[in-house]
Amino acid sequence: MKCPQCLKDCSKVIESRDAADGDAIRRRRECLTCTHRYTTYERVERPNLAVIKKDGSRELFDRNKLFAAVHRSVGKFLTSDMEIEELVGRVEDGLHNLGVNEIHSRQIGDMVLDELAGRNEVAYVRFASVYREFKSVEEFEQTLKALRNRRS
Ligand SMILES: [Zn+2]
Repeated sequence: MKCPQCLKDCSKVIESRDAADGDAIRRRRECLTCTHRYTTYERVERPNLAVIKKDGSRELFDRNKLFAAVHRSVGKFLTSDMEIEELVGRVEDGLHNLGVNEIHSRQIGDMVLDELAGRNEVAYVRFASVYREFKSVEEFEQTLKALRNRRS
């Protein structure tokens, strides 16, 4: 692990502990060359997941892309980037729990909707409209009705 300061690959670990969510180990390191202290995170490597897009092409699942998509479409309706981070983390866990190695982008969209359903009605409808490409007001109304039905 290269020191970010002097780029020498020689450090000792001075502290190790689980990160907040238990998914990662956080290590405090000290560079043996310049004594700079820095932090590294060690995560379990997750198997690659292919996303099948609407046009039939495939690309690797990328949590940063999902974060960006949620942020762009409904970020202003959610409380903070932390909330989006949490939402994306839950979707990502759900995806990996499915144990599949490919998934349609639409299913990911549905999982995001499931998360939004319990959080924010405006964000739910807005996200649905973006990823399902609503073409009419009726589609909005149907989506809203479906959301209210699942709540009651
Ligand atoms: Zn160094």
